[in-house]
Amino acid sequence: MKNIKDALWGFVVGDALGVPYEFSTRSMMKENPAVDMVGYGTYNQPPGTWSDDTSMLLCVLENIINKGDIHSLADLFLKWYRDDYMTPHGELFDIGITTSAALQKVLIGVKPSLAGGDDENSAGNGSLMRSLPYAFVEDINKSVFNMNRENRITHRNSKCSLCCMFYVKMMRSLLEGNDKFEAFKTGGAYLRFGWRITDSDDDHEEEWQWFKKLFNPDFSSLPESEIKSTGYVLSTLEAASWCFLNTDNYKDAVLKAVSLGGDTDTIAALTGGLAGMYYGYENIPLEWRQQIASPHLINNLLDKINPDAKYIH
Ligand SMILES: [Mg+2]
Repeated sequence: MKNIKDALWGFVVGDALGVPYEFSTRSMMKENPAVDMVGYGTYNQPPGTWSDDTSMLLCVLENIINKGDIHSLADLFLKWYRDDYMTPHGELFDIGITTSAALQKVLIGVKPSLAGGDDENSAGNGSLMRSLPYAFVEDINKSVFNMNRENRITHRNSKCSLCCMFYVKMMRSLLEGNDKFEAFKTGGAYLRFGWRITDSDDDHEEEWQWFKKLFNPDFSSLPESEIKSTGYVLSTLEAASWCFLNTDNYKDAVLKAVSLGGDTDTIAALTGGLAGMYYGYENIPLEWRQQIASPHLINNLLDKINPDAKYIH
């Protein structure tokens, strides 16, 4: 039975694969291509070390399992931020600027729903990178509603929630057993449908512009030079989708993501989540899975979910 285990392990392995290369330029990656799980590099961490992407995602998953709300999730994020909760070696080594600024606000008493940045500089991928678990909740509409609310702890720019909705709907479509191109179309159709039922298309001219590339019917055929791999939320979503659509197995998908350079851990993690879901846990190389640091943090949560169930109830 396909379920969150496929996507979660795909995500964590992709994250760990990208950690040593974060901030490398694309030309550096062309000179020294990533071919395997390695350590050290950018953060001087041993092989298999996953980053803040996985830490925050595990907090979201725990909160979903515990049927928590925005307040309990903010508490888990603070536990991570201050006490190194859900970190692979008991120490936080990577955090995004927008996330850090927002959690500082929560610490001084700002309401979690008002803590996130909402300006253009706050449209980073910090909430997209933790959105995966929301795709697995049985009541998907309620789950997306909760996700949009909980995004506000760190990210209140509307681009962030729209990209999360795209990713979560694409993931959900893969979970339902659809073809990957079909699933990708579902992500975009979900946003367009929402815009049509609320207003006319004309009222969403700005949003159409943001998603122009992802709505392009020839998106997957775009050359690599058209795909940016920065931490800007739309670029991250474009890069992860493009790597997933242009490969036919887990390993090639995540290595392609790392080879783009830039925000390698987040892009490889999001690509890996989709590829893990689509090709299955067994398609994730065993030698990579075996190197993952503190696997008990992942498995302890998975143990709380019925392994034979498709959805989290
Ligand atoms: Mg990271």
